[in-house]
Amino acid sequence: MKKQLIAFALLGALGVAPAYAQQHMKHEDTEFYTPVPPVVTPGKECGAPPSDAVILFDGKNLDNWVSADDTTKPADWFVHDGVLTVNKKAGNIQTKQKFEDYQIHLEWKEPKDIQGEGQLRGNSGLFLASLGKGDAGYELQILDNYHNSTYVNGQAGSVYKQYAPLVNANFPPGVWQTYDVIWTAPRFNTDGSLMSPARVTAFFNGVLVQNNVQLKGPTLYIGLPTYEGAAHGPAPIKLQAHGDKSEPISFRNIWVRELP
Ligand code: MG
Repeated sequence: MKKQLIAFALLGALGVAPAYAQQHMKHEDTEFYTPVPPVVTPGKECGAPPSDAVILFDGKNLDNWVSADDTTKPADWFVHDGVLTVNKKAGNIQTKQKFEDYQIHLEWKEPKDIQGEGQLRGNSGLFLASLGKGDAGYELQILDNYHNSTYVNGQAGSVYKQYAPLVNANFPPGVWQTYDVIWTAPRFNTDGSLMSPARVTAFFNGVLVQNNVQLKGPTLYIGLPTYEGAAHGPAPIKLQAHGDKSEPISFRNIWVRELP
């Protein structure tokens, strides 16, 4: 049956009698039984980790994280009541484990009485691949934009300074919000040139905000992003301790599924 399908495909590819091939196919010719997709048990509640997830934060400790500025040091943020709160003095934190292509789930909450405006109102960020100290990497912005305007490619759900979110799906401050993101890492040739750009699909509170956008390079605060000199392999995931003066934001329930 497989041989017949190959023969039909070959005929089609050669442009030889595709109509003939179509007419003589059986339903079995387009039904496959291998490879069988592995079984994954979904989380019982919405947002709960499925059985094949790598748990990055489950409310207990930061064992899977280190300081992003000095990876020999532990991640010195505050774990309390099953929640992780940014310690601005400690700087960014990143995962010990490196990832290439993956799906991530993360929940974050702005303080209910958040103050500040523009970029200085509950700013943080999810760096989908950390490229070292500080803000080096690819940032999906975290900010309170419930009633707070800023440049649109810098609001919550934006690929910072590259793609504005498709919609504003913010909940008000004080409410837990979710990011569900699919990250496809960029690939580089052996000479460091770009083979294929990074891609991001992101849901913000279940609403699509980034639809398979192609990144132009790692995030840049000033200037145009480029992949030049940026060649890298699998990378940690990083969370931002932003220097704004507003109360620090919190995270919970962070998990990743590595994609083949
Ligand atoms: Mg940020």
